[in-house]
Amino acid sequence: MPAVTRAMRRRFTKMTREYFQIQGTFYGYPHCCIEQFIDTFGIQPCNPKRLAGSSTGFIPCLIHSKQILNGKLRLKDLIQNRQCVKSFPRG
Ligand SMILES: [Zn+2]
Repeated sequence: MPAVTRAMRRRFTKMTREYFQIQGTFYGYPHCCIEQFIDTFGIQPCNPKRLAGSSTGFIPCLIHSKQILNGKLRLKDLIQNRQCVKSFPRG
């Protein structure tokens, strides 16, 4: 049984979307990664995204995940204008 059911996804409200946008911005995640996370909320992240996120809690979008896995980008380089006082990936 999936952690988040289809019924739960249907109840995904505008308020919840805004919550994740605020959270993602707080942690300095790129807009593209935040939006893809929201759009796929409750769906198990595909393998490249899981691997690229390295269990940090940050699940980058598929494009950024592929760049990370190809060695063209480092996960921490995606973090910009972070408001959280703890440095990535803590916090
Ligand atoms: Zn991204």
